[in-house]
Amino acid sequence: MSSLTVTAPAKINLCLGVGARRPDGFHPLATVYQAIGLYDRVTVSPADDLSLEVRADDRLCVAGVPTDGANIAVRAALLLARHHGVERGAHIVLDKGIPVAGGMAGGSADAAATLLACDAVWGLATPRAELAGLAAELGSDVPFALVGGTAIGSGRGEVVTPLMTRGTYWWVVLESAQGLSTPRVYAEFDAMHAGAEVGDPEIPDALIAALLGHDVSDLGAVLSNDLQAAALRLRPELADVLAVGIAHSAHGAVLSGSGPSCLFLCANRSHAQRVAGGLGAEGLGPVSFAPGPVRGAHATASEG
Ligand code: ATP
Repeated sequence: MSSLTVTAPAKINLCLGVGARRPDGFHPLATVYQAIGLYDRVTVSPADDLSLEVRADDRLCVAGVPTDGANIAVRAALLLARHHGVERGAHIVLDKGIPVAGGMAGGSADAAATLLACDAVWGLATPRAELAGLAAELGSDVPFALVGGTAIGSGRGEVVTPLMTRGTYWWVVLESAQGLSTPRVYAEFDAMHAGAEVGDPEIPDALIAALLGHDVSDLGAVLSNDLQAAALRLRPELADVLAVGIAHSAHGAVLSGSGPSCLFLCANRSHAQRVAGGLGAEGLGPVSFAPGPVRGAHATASEG
């Protein structure tokens, strides 16, 4: 095979329960992930060395995305080669469609896509369970990017259990010109809870019930994110932004992961279009809308 393109989706968290910082520095999570239809595309071609190129349209600022060994896609390729004890090269092209540092796990999507693409281009045929293990080494959100759909995340988020759900949801995504660092938001979370008892994170029963019944208005009412208060302390203006979406008839509004992207739950595509239009008319943006759940990382084009 001369090259392969793998498409991987953004993730959102319908609930994000966060526990007290563990001795290893991670926080225990209880979350429901959903993959939504905003995508990065990763194209891998065989090459003598390992190199990476980042592309995006004007909507996205990719200035903060490293093109060296700090890029999680490069780390994914190296980890896979090391796992098999081989030395391989590749030229990796990232076509970013997921906001950078937006709390939608764009880097994790790239890592998952790179694992799949390199595995195929290098002819390694790594068993799926081994790929999931490598994904977990790369980052807490990477295993979910392989699976997609709707799933429960536990541990530090890397233990993924698919959830059977009915129907499609429509999400308006309001991006922010400036990203928010995930470690900074967790540090703020820790500072806010210093000296207090933080209980074990749990997934609300009402959220599972709303998903089982495919009740958009119930789901909108129970969206939750334990990192939201911390993120809003760093970016207070986002509280108004969330309220504007509700004023424009969204069924629910929540920060995506560690933010700053804001999510608004809508009844269907045309409702999402209206809510997106309302936010845009208020001068907020860039704004897009996407369905969920969608499938995890998968090959979309190959050559040779
Ligand atoms: P998280 O998974 O922590 O929620 P996020 O969605 O907020 O992350 P990402 O876009 O995944 O943010 O990336 C966060 C940071 O990681 C970026 O600011 C960048 O410095 C670095 N990074 C490394 N590799 C990538 C990549 N392939 N795409 C985007 N950012 C990357």
